[in-house]
Amino acid sequence: MEGVRVRFAPSPTGYLHIGGLRTALYNYLFAKHNNGKFILRIEDTDRTRYVEGAIENLINSLNWAGIKYDEGVFVEEGKIVQRGEYGPYIQSERLDIYKKYVDELIEKGYAYYCFCTKERLDKVREEQKIKGLIPRYDGLCRSLSLEEAREKIANGEEYVVRLKLPPNRDIKFKDLVRGDIIINTEDLDDQVLLKSDGFPTYHLAVVVDDHLMGITHIVRGEEWLPSTPKHVYLYEAFGWEKPTYVHLPTVLNKERKKLSKRHGDVSVEDFRKKGYLPEGLVNYLALVGWTPEDNREILSMEELIEEFSFERVSKTGGIFDIDKLNWVNGHYIRGYDLDKLTDIAIPFLKEAGFIDDEFINERYEWLKILVATVREGLSNVSEIVDKVDIFFNDKVEVEDEEALEVLKWEETPTVLNALKEEVENAQEITEELSKTIMKKIQKSTGVKGKKLFMPVRVALSGKIHGPELVSIIYLLGKQNVLKRIKYIENNHLK
Ligand code: GLU
Repeated sequence: MEGVRVRFAPSPTGYLHIGGLRTALYNYLFAKHNNGKFILRIEDTDRTRYVEGAIENLINSLNWAGIKYDEGVFVEEGKIVQRGEYGPYIQSERLDIYKKYVDELIEKGYAYYCFCTKERLDKVREEQKIKGLIPRYDGLCRSLSLEEAREKIANGEEYVVRLKLPPNRDIKFKDLVRGDIIINTEDLDDQVLLKSDGFPTYHLAVVVDDHLMGITHIVRGEEWLPSTPKHVYLYEAFGWEKPTYVHLPTVLNKERKKLSKRHGDVSVEDFRKKGYLPEGLVNYLALVGWTPEDNREILSMEELIEEFSFERVSKTGGIFDIDKLNWVNGHYIRGYDLDKLTDIAIPFLKEAGFIDDEFINERYEWLKILVATVREGLSNVSEIVDKVDIFFNDKVEVEDEEALEVLKWEETPTVLNALKEEVENAQEITEELSKTIMKKIQKSTGVKGKKLFMPVRVALSGKIHGPELVSIIYLLGKQNVLKRIKYIENNHLK
């Protein structure tokens, strides 16, 4: 497709919602698939919802997820900068532009000044509700002449500017997911375009900016679908060519409700903090509301770009299934670059009090082996804490019934004694020794198989399941292995 330009246009209200990340992702995939451009615009015209630091937060989340854009707002060396030929890309810096277009609409009769007070609007709304009508502006100020209105403004009266919708007209547009949509203006409100504080509303700003920034496809959540007819009418009023619309199904939880903060994690940051990998989260999110032609479930960013199209976006809500996310993420954890995975795991181990900076400096290689040993069973990196405690605790309590049973076996004292001797005789437990030590004690004791491995496993880890025995022995090292055997001998074998 020629000349595709799409944008992600979040409002900086705090954090990036997982549904917002999916919107950004679909925009990105579509742009890259078509060799187009992807723009990040910040929609901050609702000053009451503005949150300090939210822009940086949003951008960090996009960067973390690996979603790159070509134009718009960036953070460089901790500072917000803007790049591109269509700036500014922050709406609060474009107020004079909106003012100019509002004036044009008023001149042409597509918009009007409205002086109704909040009290009056509340009253109208109340009366409509009582009559069972859908609350909307009753149009009182539509009939004011421009001269009358200007006089009121000169007298210092507060005003807003509203869109003047024509009565009983069908507004039509096509949505690539939803198909043809027709809405009659009788079902629409005379939308406020310019607020009394001089800021435009979203509805005006979005149309003006999408047009001026040359946006070809508007890809956004379906919660904006009811607003689209007003936007379409504005394009007509300005005499501009309409973009193509694509409304994405809402991301829902398993109960088919909107994902909300009250029901758990919803921000990209929450998932990052739990130790989800960007590749895992992005791969999974792509599948929430879209499927590739061959129904594959593991796709890299390059493959997603290759496969993505709006034809395969579903009309109904995409279900966010945490078990599926865990499965996809586990896949990426198992195949991840070990250095990178170790660096992601380190903060969790620090937080748990297992390691400090000195430890990291001195024993980074050991940490890598630790991570390699336990990564198999992880669905997110934070789970590593529960898997590695056996390597950081001085002694290990045996609580499990089956494990206690193993310690009662006839062969157990012999096996542990042989292990102790081998370890005592060694300078240290090298990787090589950890690989051969079990063979050695098999030879010296004549005990084989389960009867050989289980006592060692239980003595060293307290459990009958867990990481490879070779890794346990190596990671514990000489002193810890001896300490644990001693503990078991003193507390269980006497
Ligand atoms: N600022 C809107 C939001 O916060 C953008 C909607 C759109 O993409 O048009 O979601």
